[in-house]
Amino acid sequence: MSGSDIGRETPPEIRVALIGDGIGPSLTPPMHEREGRRLGLDYVYERVDLAEAGDVDLAAVLEELEARGFAAANVTHPYKQRVLEHVGESSEAVRRIGSANLVLLGGRRVAHNTDYTGFRAGLEEFLEGRPRGRVLQVGAGGAGLATAYSLVGMGFDEVVIHDLDPSAAGALVDRFSEAARGVLRSSGGDLDSWLGEIDGVVHVTPVGMAEHPGAAFAPEALAAGAWVAEVVYRPLETELLRRAKAAGHPVLDGGPMAVGQAADSIALITGQMPDRERMLAHFHELIGVA
Ligand code: NAD
Repeated sequence: MSGSDIGRETPPEIRVALIGDGIGPSLTPPMHEREGRRLGLDYVYERVDLAEAGDVDLAAVLEELEARGFAAANVTHPYKQRVLEHVGESSEAVRRIGSANLVLLGGRRVAHNTDYTGFRAGLEEFLEGRPRGRVLQVGAGGAGLATAYSLVGMGFDEVVIHDLDPSAAGALVDRFSEAARGVLRSSGGDLDSWLGEIDGVVHVTPVGMAEHPGAAFAPEALAAGAWVAEVVYRPLETELLRRAKAAGHPVLDGGPMAVGQAADSIALITGQMPDRERMLAHFHELIGVA
């Protein structure tokens, strides 16, 4: 040991995995590794892509990670619900939403949902100082459960859920009826008549991604001043956001949710507080936004 090493402790290695199908392009691994290192941690993040694994034995996957000393696993499509069969404890949000994107491993496994906390933190910041009023959410699929659970806890007067499939919107409303204390309702399949009546809209469908071009609704039909929040982040500026901006509406892109879920995961795994601004700048670098 050289003189300059005396008193300097090597941090223990923190190993984290991402479990999912087709996760090669995910930006979560580089976000974790960069921020982990910037926090002074020996942070290793590994992809466990199960797309080619056939019949997946999730219990065996988790046991192997634990045997290899992994502290946690982020979990993504299609395992966010299934993983709950293999945990000992779930946060209240996980129990309400019915899915998790983070499991703390070792001992009693604990499931968390940082899609919910990450989305909520980004939207809270965006809405600071704006009246909450009535919000419309378009899309009631897997991510829509997490965003809707955020919305019902954010003090809106009314949260209206719309989906191309009205039964998906109805099921979401039923799921959160207790937590929502009367503020949540379905659009009843009628999107157009709501667009001019809302203060803001959260878009949570795949429309606008490179593989699903277009916009799920016409932002030009919104009332003046209504805001638009997007969860799609590839591309960061979707057709919906471009048109909403052109029509003069304040917009929030899908970046803060993607960064927020990673930041909140790092905090739960390490007990240290990541720097969200620094992570967002890195995310923009990764996604190719100057
Ligand atoms: P999903 O397939 O589970 O659900 C999509 C829902 O949208 C379905 O209920 C479908 O009926 C509905 N839908 C589709 N087209 C519609 C339309 N034109 N109008 C109304 N409803 C429509 O998908 P998901 O897991 O909920 O993901 C949705 C999107 O959220 C993804 O494409 C992804 O881009 C995004 N996402 C972003 C983050 C992030 O961190 N920013 C995290 C998770 C998901």
